[in-house]
Amino acid sequence: MGDKFEIVIVGGGTAGWMCAAACAAKLDPARFRVRLVESEEIGTVGVGEATLPQMKDFNDFLGLDEAEFMQATQATFKLGIEFINWGRQGDRYVHPFGTFGRPIGEADFFSYWIRAHRAGTAASLSDYCFPIVAALQNRFMLPSGDANDVRNAFAYAYQFDAFLYARYLRQWAEARGIERVEGRIVEVEQDGGTGDIAAVKLASGARIAGDLFVDCSGFRGLLMAQTLGVGIEDWSHWLPCDSAAAVPSARSADFHPYTRSTRRTAGWQWRIPLQHRTGNGYVYSGADISDDEAAATLLANLDGEAMAEPRVLRFKACKREKAWAHNCIAMGLASGFLEPLESTSIYLVQMAIMHMLTLLPSGPGIDPALPAELNRVMDVEYDRIRDFLILHYIANEPDAPLWERVTTMAVPDTLADKIDRFRHRGHVQAYRDGLFGPPSWQAVFVGQGIEPQAADRLADVLPAATVEERLASLAATIADAAATAPSHADFIARYCPAPAP
Ligand SMILES: Cc1cc2nc3c(=O)[nH]c(=O)nc-3n(C[C@H](O)[C@H](O)[C@H](O)COP(=O)(O)OP(=O)(O)OC[C@H]3O[C@@H](n4cnc5c(N)ncnc54)[C@H](O)[C@@H]3O)c2cc1C
Repeated sequence: MGDKFEIVIVGGGTAGWMCAAACAAKLDPARFRVRLVESEEIGTVGVGEATLPQMKDFNDFLGLDEAEFMQATQATFKLGIEFINWGRQGDRYVHPFGTFGRPIGEADFFSYWIRAHRAGTAASLSDYCFPIVAALQNRFMLPSGDANDVRNAFAYAYQFDAFLYARYLRQWAEARGIERVEGRIVEVEQDGGTGDIAAVKLASGARIAGDLFVDCSGFRGLLMAQTLGVGIEDWSHWLPCDSAAAVPSARSADFHPYTRSTRRTAGWQWRIPLQHRTGNGYVYSGADISDDEAAATLLANLDGEAMAEPRVLRFKACKREKAWAHNCIAMGLASGFLEPLESTSIYLVQMAIMHMLTLLPSGPGIDPALPAELNRVMDVEYDRIRDFLILHYIANEPDAPLWERVTTMAVPDTLADKIDRFRHRGHVQAYRDGLFGPPSWQAVFVGQGIEPQAADRLADVLPAATVEERLASLAATIADAAATAPSHADFIARYCPAPAP
């Protein structure tokens, strides 16, 4: 090995190119050499269209121009996720990327809302959240920047074509010194003594050696699973959906600044509006519906003409036992998969990249404290998302065999505790690391019918009429503020119109 620390990224899907771009942006080329190996013959998963607000942080971290990125990826804005038929058939709520209400008195806003809600004097929780009110009117604006303005109490994410994003990042990263190697890896060479990965060998005969390998090879986990034998924690008993049928459809006239998830008999269907098309998919449990039935249900529930035949993908809800083992870090689908109900996969890639950059070894050899820390934080991330997803499954009226099973299953203790605390007083513990914050939990709990039995005592201090009047005034302020935002389609047409692909 030469003087430089050599990083070899295996795989050029969203995970591989995000990692390569971050290395290009932040690692000193005098000290690091970064190569990415990918095989056009094998290709990428090519789905993954909805993201979380942290995606903007990642793009800002790279220094990407937002409008240019959105044009390159046919992106739209996302203010949250709308859930239809979750809880009970006919129900509808939004998980927003923003907060509910604003301070009224000594207690937090949510406690006042519980009190008024229990007294029958509050409006729906959604009416106190600017991004929900704006989203449901198909309106969008950037946060106003004024801390006193309700139009500042939100963040936003993107809905985009993940394949185009990887392509965009590839150009960006190659222009900044990342070396791309085309070819199929046919052999992985390990050090006879340590078991570390020494090199990957390509079908062409080329051999690529490195100090650190990043496994972004997708579900197959070429390095982490197939070579190092790191197993998975199987969570499919909690998250039983194991398949998805995906199909793009023609862009419909309405241009939602949100992703939609509709609960169905054997799973749920996504709808993600991009600039050039709408992404759709039915995520389902193969034990409850056949692939043909799932595809037929999907095609029967599009709001534009299908642009291809549905493509079926298989997966298992799981986390890789270790994200970092030996001299290899797994990211993306190679590190586990949690179904796309809350659009968390690309976020998990981003977290793995940030922790990798923080914990990169500073010389030869890897101090065991580095993998231990990365594995700890990635475990926290996965566990928290897992619990949040399971909540969506258990809080439903059981109206089909899948829903009868999941609504009666035993849940992880961490989630059971969270539900108890919420039922009691509406408490949601805030985390230092990991998703999701209190407003997200409040949205799903309330949206799916889990209600607190009481509010915090401090919320009793103000007279009921004062609370009622302040809530009404806040809802009116938010409604007026939302009416000032342009339509999502107009905003995009002005800010980042993408040419037809
Ligand atoms: C149904 C579904 C819906 C999803 N929806 C979302 C969503 O809404 N939001 C979200 O954030 N995420 C979503 N995801 C996840 C998202 O698609 C992935 O996290 C993301 O695309 C990362 O994929 P990847 O790069 O890990 O793997 P892949 O895209 O599979 O890329 C693997 C790469 O490894 C290379 N490779 C593999 N083997 C070899 C070899 N032997 N030699 C050389 N190269 C090799 C391939 O060529 C490819 O470049 C979804 C996933 C699925 C399955």
